Amino acid sequence: MEGDYVAQSVRVLSGHGFTPDNAIACVGVCRDEITQPLVERVKKAWGEAFNFSSLAGMLFLGKTGFSAAEHHAPDEEGRERYVFFALPHIAVHEDGQIGVCRRAGRQELSSACGALLALQRELAGGRVKFGLDMDDLEQSLIRMRLLAEIRYGEVPELLTLTKTTLKVIQADLKRMIELTVQSDRSDVAVFTGIQIHGPGANYIWPHLSYCTVRGQRYSLQF
Ligand SMILES: [Zn+2]
Repeated sequence: MEGDYVAQSVRVLSGHGFTPDNAIACVGVCRDEITQPLVERVKKAWGEAFNFSSLAGMLFLGKTGFSAAEHHAPDEEGRERYVFFALPHIAVHEDGQIGVCRRAGRQELSSACGALLALQRELAGGRVKFGLDMDDLEQSLIRMRLLAEIRYGEVPELLTLTKTTLKVIQADLKRMIELTVQSDRSDVAVFTGIQIHGPGANYIWPHLSYCTVRGQRYSLQF
């Protein structure tokens, strides 16, 4: 369950010197409102949370966004600590259908992640737009970033596309950390995975999770 996942993030990091008082949390999830319970849980467990979110959970805030978050970190005895959560999302209906969910107050079934489903429809239609669309910035960035990872002519299943998105998010997060974090005075924790909207509750499928403390990397177990 999502709550256990966040509680576990605090437990596993306490052994590496991270506490809610000496670290800043940053969360990148899709803008979809059904992702928000995770953000609320992170805020509750870690104090505040810097918002990294874009459609599909992609990290488009760039060096400026990362640097801003890092300038907000507490600096206990000259060390700063960042805890990054970065997760795309997918719905799973009670009958097992992937990508389908119910939303409070809506009668018909809904879907998630809508941005990835839109890309999938475009691929299936055989006509893919290209370039940066100023009227649809985030979706055009998703398209450009993900097409580099999809074999030409392929139309991935939603689960495959979500895993590809996770891989891209992990790579982009790693690159942004390398570009913006001063490793000699900063410790970093990374939690990635897929947020799953199941019947009546959100779940987390944990994937790559680690922390780097004084230059030493440790894998974090769930
Ligand atoms: Zn979404």
